Amino acid sequence: MANELPADRLREALLKGGLNKDRQARERDANRQRRIAEKERESEDDKKGSKPTFLRPSDIAGDYDFKRALQTTLNMPEGMTRPLTREDLQAFAANIEQMKKAYKGGISVAQVISLSRQEDIDRANKEIKYAVPVGRKNGVFRFTTNSGPKSDVPNHYVQVEFLAFNELVFHPDRVKTTTVRNRLANGRVKFECDCGRFNYWFRYLNTVAGTVLGRKEGGFPKIRNPNMTGIACKHILRTMHWIKSASGQQYISQALEKERTKQVGAKYKTGKNQMVQHLTQQVAKEHLKRSQIKGNLNREVAKLEARAKREAQALIRKQREQETRHQAAIKLKNLFEQGILSKDEYDLLTKRL
Ligand SMILES: [Zn+2]
Repeated sequence: MANELPADRLREALLKGGLNKDRQARERDANRQRRIAEKERESEDDKKGSKPTFLRPSDIAGDYDFKRALQTTLNMPEGMTRPLTREDLQAFAANIEQMKKAYKGGISVAQVISLSRQEDIDRANKEIKYAVPVGRKNGVFRFTTNSGPKSDVPNHYVQVEFLAFNELVFHPDRVKTTTVRNRLANGRVKFECDCGRFNYWFRYLNTVAGTVLGRKEGGFPKIRNPNMTGIACKHILRTMHWIKSASGQQYISQALEKERTKQVGAKYKTGKNQMVQHLTQQVAKEHLKRSQIKGNLNREVAKLEARAKREAQALIRKQREQETRHQAAIKLKNLFEQGILSKDEYDLLTKRL
């Protein structure tokens, strides 16, 4: 199957059907594995906890038992780990605080892209070209994307909740296109993906930010992402890019109208033909410039860096001033001791420092 094109693999999966069941099975499997890991076992047959894995919220708060000897990659060359120290825990707590501050008030569709790592955006542009709507219930929309060349599954599942959806459903007038664009296609969202990248790198971060859908993760990613950067995997990025597109906006708009005119809260499934049509449309457009996801991280990073630089400069200025004052005090003392300054003069000048 290695030679098969990603679009063909995805089309096969769409036509095979049972996508929702498949997604639920993967979710159950992931939850089961997570429970075993939580018990600090490598498998269910393993009776004794042999491999401590997770750094829990209470550990970061200061209850960490150093005998557990967990490893981290923080400030290490790529691929290397070392045992955790007290300073690491403080650094983690600081990273969490900073991230909470940055994401206060939620995250918009555009921000999911602009806050992502360039490497994830590059991967999405190179490998993940299609995101197809599979179904929805209320404001939670289900999508499936093709998978990367090394993946052992033909597709991945991304779920996105549009936080303004339910409010707009009860809007007395037909909702305008611009409203759909601003409040939904570029509105606040919660999201998740079933892939490993999301589960091991980004689920924790989105749990803390309040933007995760599904399972909440309490284990700090001390090995995979101790600096807490990035926010979404390549599958989520492609999905968000499609949501922002004209086709995505049209899809959401129709979904909203359906919800307003038919039964509220019903479950909707996209038909197979319709899903294949969505895919075919995207295959036809995949080489266009507008299919490229453009990251904005440099701008976001530049903002953060500029702030850090300003704070560092202020600190240096303060330190320099203190040093100058200190030196001046020594000089004045010398002048006083040499009899060049009188006691009154010395007192007056010292007060001015
Ligand atoms: Zn993913």
